[in-house]
Amino acid sequence: MPAARPVPPAVSSEEWEFLEWNVLKPSRSSSVCITCQHFRYEVGRHCVTLLTCPIHQGLIPQGEHLTRRCSQWVPRQEVAVGWCSEGG
Ligand code: SF4
Repeated sequence: MPAARPVPPAVSSEEWEFLEWNVLKPSRSSSVCITCQHFRYEVGRHCVTLLTCPIHQGLIPQGEHLTRRCSQWVPRQEVAVGWCSEGG
């Protein structure tokens, strides 16, 4: 099955809802949202850090990015291939 790719959001991520309660599952490994290729964060209008997922187009609750992941987790590219994959 090909990896999921984000699609351009219809609305700003500041208007996204939090992920549904059953999307993220506990993980006891380093495979959690913060180590996922899709994980993003930004500072919103009110200077609050927003943790976002462009695949689900939703907000990740604070703290859950460290302990949970979904079935579409993929490793960050720089971890999978290294920071300088063209170097020898
Ligand atoms: S693990 Fe799932 S919810 Fe978390 S950032 Fe990756 S794709 Fe999004």
